[in-house]
Amino acid sequence: MSGGTAPRHAARVAGAVKEYGTGDTRVRALDGVSVDFPAERFTAIMGPSGSGKSTLMHCAAGLDTLTEGHAYLGDTELGPLDDRRLTLLRRERVGFVFQAFNLVPTLTVRENITLPLDLAGRAPDPRRLADLIEVVGLGDRLAHRPSELSGGQQQRVAVARALVGQPDVVFADEPTGNLDSRTGTGVLTLLRRAVDTLGRAVVMVTHDPTAAGHADRVLFLADGRLVDTMDAPTADRVLDRMKDLDRGEGR
Ligand code: ADP
Repeated sequence: MSGGTAPRHAARVAGAVKEYGTGDTRVRALDGVSVDFPAERFTAIMGPSGSGKSTLMHCAAGLDTLTEGHAYLGDTELGPLDDRRLTLLRRERVGFVFQAFNLVPTLTVRENITLPLDLAGRAPDPRRLADLIEVVGLGDRLAHRPSELSGGQQQRVAVARALVGQPDVVFADEPTGNLDSRTGTGVLTLLRRAVDTLGRAVVMVTHDPTAAGHADRVLFLADGRLVDTMDAPTADRVLDRMKDLDRGEGR
């Protein structure tokens, strides 16, 4: 955390409205969502397809802008920032993990992991980098290219890359979507460790109840609204709640 009093939340949105398009083709992807993503907690975002999960994540992470309402990373409101300041803030505070790994194929594992620091002109602290590599279990793969790794290993590289800049919050968009359940569990365990051991916040969009079961709290969206939350979730309870939402109940 970069100085000052640590905020209770790593990110938050208040009265968030996001509309795409105009006139007849207008879509209200977020319809007045207010939610905190607490520091040092693992939050999962669930809901039927098209319910606004990705939109919420993108707006909270400063990758997209709200139509109405407010989004904050820490105590910094994103709305007034120009692109350059937003980019710098994301670089300092946020890490990203995507479903498709998004590694650079021509770089080695080590170079992929340190890429965010290289882009920011920051030298990696050798001790901290060694610790991170140990946590993600990639010590014997550092000189390999992504194509020489399994999907699970590639996603572990992506998690290490998201963590290397010591962000307050890691946003993960369907991080296990391309993985079988065993390797997916390895990636979820790693995200859990990012919270429990490294003190990061994790915000994860998923449609997988098992993945959501690794979180501290699950947010349920339907039709662009926050319709429920669940603390200390289990996969079974999440699955039951999702079935209700798919039937259109409990909105
Ligand atoms: P989810 O992640 O839950 O599947 P999204 O946030 O992707 O939902 O989408 C919410 C709604 O907004 C959907 O109706 C979707 O079609 C619409 N939407 C998302 N992105 C765009 C876009 N760039 N342009 C137009 N409509 C969009």
